[in-house]
Amino acid sequence: MSVFDLTGRVAVVTGANTGIGQGIAVALAEAGADVAAVGRTPAEETAAKVRALGRKCELVGADLSTIAPVQSVVDQVLASLGGLDILINNAGIIRRADSVDFTEEDWDAVVDTNLKSVFFLSQAAGRHMIAHREATGRRGKIINIASMLSFQGGIRVPSYTASKSGVAGLTKLLACEWAAKGVNVNAIAPGYIATNNTAALQEDETRNRQIMERIPEGRWGAPSDIGGAAVFLSSSAADYVQGHVLAVDGGWLAR
Ligand code: NAP
Repeated sequence: MSVFDLTGRVAVVTGANTGIGQGIAVALAEAGADVAAVGRTPAEETAAKVRALGRKCELVGADLSTIAPVQSVVDQVLASLGGLDILINNAGIIRRADSVDFTEEDWDAVVDTNLKSVFFLSQAAGRHMIAHREATGRRGKIINIASMLSFQGGIRVPSYTASKSGVAGLTKLLACEWAAKGVNVNAIAPGYIATNNTAALQEDETRNRQIMERIPEGRWGAPSDIGGAAVFLSSSAADYVQGHVLAVDGGWLAR
């Protein structure tokens, strides 16, 4: 299935040391891509999995709570892997509190990481992709990790909902600006996936039961469940897909 083949592509995955980022990094490597694993915790386990598949994996240290490292991330990836074809904006955090008690610190931390850094890393990567489109002869691919809360309100996570709704809007805006310049910008909206991010929900017996009852597939997703969508959107099979937010949710939104 050559339209899904990523051989020779370089993929940057932020927050690749664990959870959904690790699942995506491994899936992209299985499809043939070399991977730059970007984050504040070294992604040694992910690197071992990627290298076991015969692909290169470079670890790039960056704390994306500010935009300070974004240009150096792109520069380091280009220097170490010789290109940058795919950017997966996955790194993200969540803070939970009632809206009446929610602090400015919890607002800024989440919006800066989940939205501001996503835009400025996309800008740095997009500039390279647009400038090198002719030379590489292939389209750049940017995939943002959105959420069910790009569509729904949720409760007790105001900055997270604002950031992920913002990610959906930003995905559409960048698609409108860059589609004709050779870059595809899309998003994946995972449903309820068992990771560190959702540990509090999984441990809360009542919320866990309510969530499971609402998922038509009847189970939490695994990080590997997101991999196929990431490979599709990264591949030439999705060259005409633009500004789409693809739910991978076991049917949650269909309920
Ligand atoms: P996770 O296991 O907590 O992973 C989050 C990743 O983001 C980790 O690699 C983390 O690194 C990284 N990260 C956080 N802050 C960072 C920073 N300042 N600089 C660099 N890296 C940072 O959670 P996950 O569920 O896999 O989340 C991945 C993405 O999916 C997030 O954007 C999340 O909002 C989204 N999502 C998750 C779900 C779900 O059900 N799990 C659903 C919808 C969307 P450290 O390990 O160093 O903290």
